[in-house]
Amino acid sequence: MAKPKISSDWLGGCSGCHMSFLDLDERLLDVFALTDIRATPITDLKHPDEDGVDVGLLEGCINNSAHIEVAKMMRERCKILVAFGDCAVFGGVPAMRNFFDLDEVMRCGYINTISTDSEGMVPTDPELAVPQRVQSLNEVVKVDVFLPGCPPSADAIYYTLTELAQGRIPLITGDYLNWH
Ligand code: SF4
Repeated sequence: MAKPKISSDWLGGCSGCHMSFLDLDERLLDVFALTDIRATPITDLKHPDEDGVDVGLLEGCINNSAHIEVAKMMRERCKILVAFGDCAVFGGVPAMRNFFDLDEVMRCGYINTISTDSEGMVPTDPELAVPQRVQSLNEVVKVDVFLPGCPPSADAIYYTLTELAQGRIPLITGDYLNWH
C-alpha cells in the first residue's frame, strides 16, 4: 500500500514549528517509514503535488495576501489540513498587533524601528497586502485538525503525524500540550 503523502508550508510564523518537527530527531526515521514527505520548507519543494496529498500542515497565521493564496492551495490539494502551532490555531504572537491601529503597526515595523534607515518605507507590493487584522487559519479555510503549542512539542507532532499516517484523526489532549 502506498504511504500517505504529507506536505507542509509556513505562513505568518517564525518557522519554530518546523524546527520542532526537526526535534523529532531519530523518530524522523519512523515518520519517513510511515509517510511520503513531499513539498515542505525542509525538503525545499515549493508546492504540494498537483494531484493532491493526504495530509497538509500549515504553520503561521494569515497576515498578508500571499498567505491566503498558500492556504487555499494547500486546502485544495490536501485531504486533511492541520493547523500547525498556535499562530495557525488562533493567530498566536502575530495577532498581538490586532490590538493596535494598522498604520501605527506598519510605521512601527518599517519606519520607526531603530534598525530602519532614513529611507525606510512601508512596502506597497500587492502580494504583501496586509489585512486589518491577523486571522487564524480556520478563518480563511476549513481546518480538520488543530495542533496547538508555541511550538507544538516534538511528542505532539510525532503523535499527530503517526496517527494521521495510520488513518486516524489524532485526539490532542493535555498530555501533548506544552507551555514554554
Ligand atoms: Fe513560531 Fe510559535 Fe508561531 Fe510556531 S506557533 S510559528 S513557534 S510563534
